[in-house]
Amino acid sequence: MLFKHLKFTLLFFLLAVFSPLQAFALNIESVRFGLYQEKTRLVLDLDRSSDFRAFVLSDPYRMVIDLPRFQWNAGETKAPQNGGVLATRHGNLKPGISRIVFDMNRPISIQKAFTLPRGAGKPDRLVIDFANVSPSIFQQVKSTIHGSLDTNKTTQTAGLNLAPPPAPKPQKDQNKKPLIIIDPGHGGIDPGAVGPSNIHEKTVVLALAKELKRQLEASGGYRVILSRENDNFIKLTNRVKFARKHEGDLFISLHADSLQNKNVSGASVYTLSEKASDKQTAKLAARENKADLIAGIDLNVEDKDVANILVDLAMRDTMNQSKFFANTLVNTMKNNNVRVLESAHRYAGFAVLKAPDIPSVLVEAGFMSNRKEANLLNSDAHRKKLAGALKKGIDRYFDQVRKNQRI
Ligand SMILES: [Zn+2]
Repeated sequence: MLFKHLKFTLLFFLLAVFSPLQAFALNIESVRFGLYQEKTRLVLDLDRSSDFRAFVLSDPYRMVIDLPRFQWNAGETKAPQNGGVLATRHGNLKPGISRIVFDMNRPISIQKAFTLPRGAGKPDRLVIDFANVSPSIFQQVKSTIHGSLDTNKTTQTAGLNLAPPPAPKPQKDQNKKPLIIIDPGHGGIDPGAVGPSNIHEKTVVLALAKELKRQLEASGGYRVILSRENDNFIKLTNRVKFARKHEGDLFISLHADSLQNKNVSGASVYTLSEKASDKQTAKLAARENKADLIAGIDLNVEDKDVANILVDLAMRDTMNQSKFFANTLVNTMKNNNVRVLESAHRYAGFAVLKAPDIPSVLVEAGFMSNRKEANLLNSDAHRKKLAGALKKGIDRYFDQVRKNQRI
């Protein structure tokens, strides 16, 4: 009896420790398209029947399918040439929910979306029929949601509660230690820049964030919270809201850039400004601000409260502190043998830097498009060095803040 009980306890323990997501995730086994005269049929082979949610978006045209957290076994998707599908992405959207996004080159409408039970040697399937429509018809159908998956519930996978534990509230009596919010860019369905050997920006910046957290905490001088601890997608506005909710003293968004010119390498630091410092930075901001779009978020219905905060007088002090912090980081990187770009502090309208009351910078730790630097960013040793330089910059910033407070 006791033994049996122990066995169950052990089983639950193992499930809890070794990612219940993997153990119970839905499996997408294959993805197929069929071209018909009046429609295109998309079929997903699943390892079991599943609820879903499908809809279309514009600017640019996309088709989105949400499913309970899944494991992708379908390899690379081969869409037919005339089907209108430009690209396919998939990944985690939030705890318990994964998403597939199809970029379309024209407006479409979903005509039918339904599941077929396994039988006659075929697996469980999700079938979506879609067809080309005019832009005006698209406007009429675009708010229709097919399927009944509730993406606000986080218990979709085998009844397990996958909601992350509530983040600790900052305690007032701990206020002497500054709270650093580290924001690893991208995540889940949005890989960010993809380097050689399929190294993803989202993966290296998460590892860098964890290393920086480790070094900051080890010094005993800081409290540190990460905006994401795993491979989850987070909307840009929610990253800002997260930092404000926790009343962070400093916000650092970590990224790695990509350029056509694969020779360019070096780190750089960015602060918010309505006007970009240069064309290249304006383009970079546009790329980084696209994260929500890549994840299939409808920007037209997004809450605009944070996105539209204007750079006004109230922000001026925060922005001055951000600029000071950015320059400090550039210097400590230079002094610690981290290669940086020429005029390495630049500015533009980055959506993730719009907390009006928290000094915020975005660090591009290097270039995923440069083979050597992508490999460096993928190595523990380089991330240790990089995090060390960032930590020194943070130390120096707070030294100055304390000095100013004494005056
Ligand atoms: Zn990025």
